[in-house]
Amino acid sequence: MLNLDKSQAAFTEAKTLMPGGVNSPVRSYKSMDCDPPFIDHAKGSKIYDIDGNEYIDYIGSWGPMVVGHAHPQVVEALQKVTEKGTSYGAPTLLESDLAKLVMSVYPSIEKIRMVNSGTEATMSAIRAARGYTGREKFVKFIGCYHGHSDSLLVKAGSGAATFGVPDSPGVTKGTAQDTITVPYNDMAAIEQVITEQGNEIAAVIIEPVAGNMGLVLPKQGYLRRLREITEQHGIVLIFDEVMCGFRASLGGAQAAYGIVPDMTCLGKIIGGGLPVAAYGGKTEIMDMVAPAGPVYQAGTLSGNPLAMTAGIATLSILTAAPEEGQPDFSRVLTIKTKQLLLALQNAAKEAGIKIQLHQAGSMFGLFFNENPVYDYETSAASNQEAFKVYFKAMLEQGIYIAPSQFETLFMSGAHTSEDIAKTIEAAKIAFKAVADF
Ligand code: PMP
Repeated sequence: MLNLDKSQAAFTEAKTLMPGGVNSPVRSYKSMDCDPPFIDHAKGSKIYDIDGNEYIDYIGSWGPMVVGHAHPQVVEALQKVTEKGTSYGAPTLLESDLAKLVMSVYPSIEKIRMVNSGTEATMSAIRAARGYTGREKFVKFIGCYHGHSDSLLVKAGSGAATFGVPDSPGVTKGTAQDTITVPYNDMAAIEQVITEQGNEIAAVIIEPVAGNMGLVLPKQGYLRRLREITEQHGIVLIFDEVMCGFRASLGGAQAAYGIVPDMTCLGKIIGGGLPVAAYGGKTEIMDMVAPAGPVYQAGTLSGNPLAMTAGIATLSILTAAPEEGQPDFSRVLTIKTKQLLLALQNAAKEAGIKIQLHQAGSMFGLFFNENPVYDYETSAASNQEAFKVYFKAMLEQGIYIAPSQFETLFMSGAHTSEDIAKTIEAAKIAFKAVADF
């Protein structure tokens, strides 16, 4: 049995200080009916709690830690820049350096604005699209999560789905009525909405690879048709690649599926573990944003030198030219992820359990579900009790996965073949526990 005595005491105290003891809901493990380990430090593929337990980490801070925790290049760059002061609230070369790095991999982004969280990026992208089109409504897909700004917290995924509050109290009817929701992967549904209300719709925002209802992939041709129909109606197509950016492929889902959106939101990886996100896209849309244009958006700590530095160091590792004859960084992650999933599929089969396993580059997800999962409804039909048994058995064996089926897991450059072998052995035991349950 894991000894979590110190974590449990820390959680008891934290609950007197913060709502539910945490600063972001899913961290609480509330839906798993157990208490979370409190983390002391992390290095490479491992994370360590305050009781001294070691875990192989597939959460990676919910996506950002693609090069592994405390990567020496990132740490060294941060140490150096910190000595020069931590924030100036004034332009720096670092902001342009990160902008150029991002734009070199995302050519659809002609101009970019750095912000501090994915929530800010999507909220601001919608505002810019509204300013640009002069229209007020926008479309989002049920089970996609775009952060917690009011108008996007409608039929949302991630923690909102995990805790059964996809429509949060506190979001007014007035706000929610400009948000049109349609099922993911249902072309007829979005075509109908656009045919009927197209000239009132400013934007369609989508996770082109959806990671917040578990990992759900777009059906073949879906994104292409979405691009066509939005273009025909003058609707701004926003790809929210906060999670799948640099993950579905180096160039994100847009490169993987060959689609050029009008705007893109990025986050997580571009901050290398510090609070950074960004929105960007066509110059004519981005030039609507202040001070170039009238759409207001600002931030005291936006473009912070530490955050830019961690992002630059991380993206430099990701985009470095591979050594002679070696595959590139993202390809290696994809191969490692595939190896893990093949073994997991076999282990589940041996235990007599039917699961659905999905992969997009270095992202992966598992559903305890006998049937295909392609939208929120099919994802929500997965067996929650089976997942709970699996989750606890994995944690007990030192495998740190998200405490919800509505989340995605991540491979990093630091995961070794030994880590993967250990994970597979743990999964065999966990699947057996599910079968016996
Ligand atoms: N968009 C997507 C696709 C996300 O996955 C998330 C967070 N997981 C967000 C937006 C919000 O980002 P943040 O938590 O940084 O506000």
